[in-house]
Amino acid sequence: MSHLKFDTRDWKFILHEQYDLKQLLGLKKYADFDIETLDTVADEGIKFAIDVVAPINGPGDAEGCKVADGRVTAPQGYAEAWKKLGANGWNSAIHSPEFGGQGLPLFAMMPVFEAMNGAGQAFFMYSQLTSGAAHLVENFGSEKLKKLYCEKMYTGAWGGTMCLTEPGAGSSVGDLVSTAELQPDGRYSIEGTKIYISGGDADFYGNVVHLVLARVKGDPAGIKGVSLFAVPRDWVNDDGSTGDFNHAYVESIEHKMGINGSATCQLSFGSRAPTYGYMVGEPCSGIVYMFQLMNEARIMCAVQGSAIANASFQQAVAYSKDRKQGGDVTDLGGASVEIIRHPDVRRNLMLMKGYAEGTRALIARAAWAADFSMSSDSESEKENYHNMLDLMIPIVKAYTTDKAFRTTELGIQVFGGYGYCRDYPMEQYLRDVKITSIYEGTNGIQALDLLGRKMRLKGGSLFMQYVMELSQFVEQHKAHSVLGVASETLGEAQGALGEVAFWLSSQPRAAVANTLLQATPFLELFGDVMVGHMLMQQAVLASSKLEAKLGRPSATREEREADADVAYYAGKMDVARFFVNEVVSFAKNRARAMTTGVNVANEMVW
Ligand SMILES: Cc1cc2nc3c(=O)[nH]c(=O)nc-3n(C[C@H](O)[C@H](O)[C@H](O)COP(=O)(O)OP(=O)(O)OC[C@H]3O[C@@H](n4cnc5c(N)ncnc54)[C@H](O)[C@@H]3O)c2cc1C
Repeated sequence: MSHLKFDTRDWKFILHEQYDLKQLLGLKKYADFDIETLDTVADEGIKFAIDVVAPINGPGDAEGCKVADGRVTAPQGYAEAWKKLGANGWNSAIHSPEFGGQGLPLFAMMPVFEAMNGAGQAFFMYSQLTSGAAHLVENFGSEKLKKLYCEKMYTGAWGGTMCLTEPGAGSSVGDLVSTAELQPDGRYSIEGTKIYISGGDADFYGNVVHLVLARVKGDPAGIKGVSLFAVPRDWVNDDGSTGDFNHAYVESIEHKMGINGSATCQLSFGSRAPTYGYMVGEPCSGIVYMFQLMNEARIMCAVQGSAIANASFQQAVAYSKDRKQGGDVTDLGGASVEIIRHPDVRRNLMLMKGYAEGTRALIARAAWAADFSMSSDSESEKENYHNMLDLMIPIVKAYTTDKAFRTTELGIQVFGGYGYCRDYPMEQYLRDVKITSIYEGTNGIQALDLLGRKMRLKGGSLFMQYVMELSQFVEQHKAHSVLGVASETLGEAQGALGEVAFWLSSQPRAAVANTLLQATPFLELFGDVMVGHMLMQQAVLASSKLEAKLGRPSATREEREADADVAYYAGKMDVARFFVNEVVSFAKNRARAMTTGVNVANEMVW
């Protein structure tokens, strides 16, 4: 049975009411698509997630992966689902038609990515890692490598991995000790151990292509000396045929908190017999290539978080409409009522809605910017969107995944004891989603990236551009009959954000340790403001829809009950007002706290 309750309505709003898909389809790259086709593809993807992926999520978690003699067996049902995933083109929906992809816009496929991750984060990781690895080869590999690997990977015949982490090199990738040595035949022999490699092997992979970061012997120490190699599990001959085992060996798999259906492998290269690979691109450019695809990878990580947050939210709403406990607050001795009637439960649900839909809106903005930054026909438009994306990415990744954990935890609270037990998917959601704040650059590292790098890019102008956009929005809507107060609160929060940004940027270099104490609080503050802004943008649009339907930007309970669209639009206005009041309004106090110079965390002797 499928556990996924997917919110198609909110995505239709984003895709068709908030954004103009025609603008995207106006780009040369997407000229062959029409809106109807995109809708049909997205609907099919969501259906696939519900029918094929969701049913294996719980059993896959309970069963987990196994390893024997260096080969991984994934949970039952994964192999069959993988075959269907490949056959239906879901590994390669947004990738190049030249290599078996469909070349669809990222933005239009976001509902599918959310549905797949909400249905089975552990299962869909195999797909995301494979297409991510293939994308690296497609972008930076030689013609030969592209021809040998990309189509096989995009179609799901073979898997792919990203091998960065080593026992002594996690966040600090440049500390890696894996080596590569050029052979007379142009190949490199690779030696080293990689840990925590997602999808390092699976019984449904005909072969696996590992994208490995290693240092060519003699190249500089640190991150600047790292190169990228494509290392197949089974050697691939120049004619495309598969040769002998290449001794990329799965030593073990991790026993972990969540995503148990995803095999997290320790791999050794060259420890038993030589392992060979080809360099991808130029020497010492490994991290440059990783960086170029990082924005997309981080959006995808955020989608995992948001998908689980939204799935939890949908479950919590459904459960609280069903579960009866205690009398209504106005009739305490009376019959038990559904828990959704209790104010504290309603508050939890509203906060969940704010984070879940707010981060979805944030991710949608990032995906839109990613599409235009890669595919616009105008260079200046490309650059504008690229700038917008650069600033947003650490917030999109870290804020979304942190709040996804919080949202999912709130969902368990709504369920009470049933949420803590395995009767419902809630506890699995919580275990699964935690990893999103750790991999793809920990959230602490994202905060450093925002404060230390992104805020300074182009002399701080990316931040100023965003602040100007927000202040124009506030100016435009502060007199709104329903949303005016929230707009003003958002404006005050924007002022606080600006002040704290200025304060942080003017701290002396000698105080860097204390300044960096504020990196995570700053990212969280920025995230609160940005998500408040995203929700308010949607609310303003929803109010105009209500105006058109009812002649006023609000709706009575009866009007909401009589018309699902009215209920939806009014709900968008409610959640924005709630979120701004409940979360964004604390911005001023938080900003003050950040600038008071309480640096005890650095003074503490542990
Ligand atoms: C289930 C799972 C799947 C994974 N999949 C992959 C994969 O497919 N491929 C791959 O290459 N890796 C993968 N990883 C590894 C993952 O990317 C790393 O765990 C992550 O980069 C953090 O590295 P670490 O675990 O060594 O933690 P550390 O780097 O030791 O960090 C520990 C803590 O210190 C903080 N910290 C570290 N350095 C700094 C700093 N300079 N400033 C401030 N704070 C800092 C971190 O934020 C963190 O809170 C996976 C991990 C897991 C658990």
